[in-house]
Amino acid sequence: MQYKEIIERIYKELEDYTGHGKVADYIPALSKVNPEHFGISVATLDGDHFSAGDVETRFTIQSISKVFTLAMVSRHLGDKLWEIVGREPSGTAFNSLIQLEQERGIPRNPFINAGALVITDRLISLYKNPKEDILTFVRELSGNRDLNYNKDVALSEIEHSYRNLALANFVKSFGNLVNDPVKVIDTYCHHCALSMNAYELATSFLFLANGGIVSTSGQRVCGSRSAKRLNALMLTCGLYNESGDFAYRVGLPGKSGVGGGVVAVIPGKLSIAVWSPELNKNGNSYRGIEALERFTTYLGISVF
Ligand code: GLN
Repeated sequence: MQYKEIIERIYKELEDYTGHGKVADYIPALSKVNPEHFGISVATLDGDHFSAGDVETRFTIQSISKVFTLAMVSRHLGDKLWEIVGREPSGTAFNSLIQLEQERGIPRNPFINAGALVITDRLISLYKNPKEDILTFVRELSGNRDLNYNKDVALSEIEHSYRNLALANFVKSFGNLVNDPVKVIDTYCHHCALSMNAYELATSFLFLANGGIVSTSGQRVCGSRSAKRLNALMLTCGLYNESGDFAYRVGLPGKSGVGGGVVAVIPGKLSIAVWSPELNKNGNSYRGIEALERFTTYLGISVF
């Protein structure tokens, strides 16, 4: 079966698959999102795009942005990265404080909030205009120059960032944060509020299916070894305490966000993004994961 038929079939099968989860409400601006949105978009290395449902409406990509900031920072730090953050799955919620005390401020991996805050902190030190530079980076990956932050969501999260601010301060108390926690939270909440649609998201992850090179422009984002490592981190840590289950069901490197987006990569072939805002108890898109599981099952291809 071809990609087009497969995603149209999945779209039909799951069109009414709502009421299983809950839209994120700990960031007030996110609670206003209509839970019924549903879109699937596939971008292939051959330059084809296949979409079903709502792939034009933008939503905030939230934690999916952590892959972009990690790519921007690991470029500069290389293996020194592993002195400030670990690379093991955490087995705890994305915003948990528990391990940080025992592990003395070295977050378990770059995708839990504590780890992403450390990455954002170093990004602020490495780049001249961090918020602008993140936008430029993602605009190049997506080929879309008018991508922007959703200011309302960013400000709403900043205003309610009690937990993330606690994480940043806690990490700072162990000496693993260089900048002012308030500044780190500001940049972090902005990149989480990057507003993209499923089509743009699938397109911008294609470099990870292509050994680190943007297939449309030929631009190298990172070396093939870095691309392998980013994919490995997505596979082992991309869905927090649901990463094992995601690997078991979907069999691909993936990354989720509380805006309801999930993106996954088949190295050498394609990337796929699904948007459906109802979340399960781990903060991952309920229908998004279901759709991805069906995609690799019907296609008969995963990384395994
Ligand atoms: N901005 C969100 C937060 O920090 C991102 C979390 C997520 O998408 N899992 O809580």
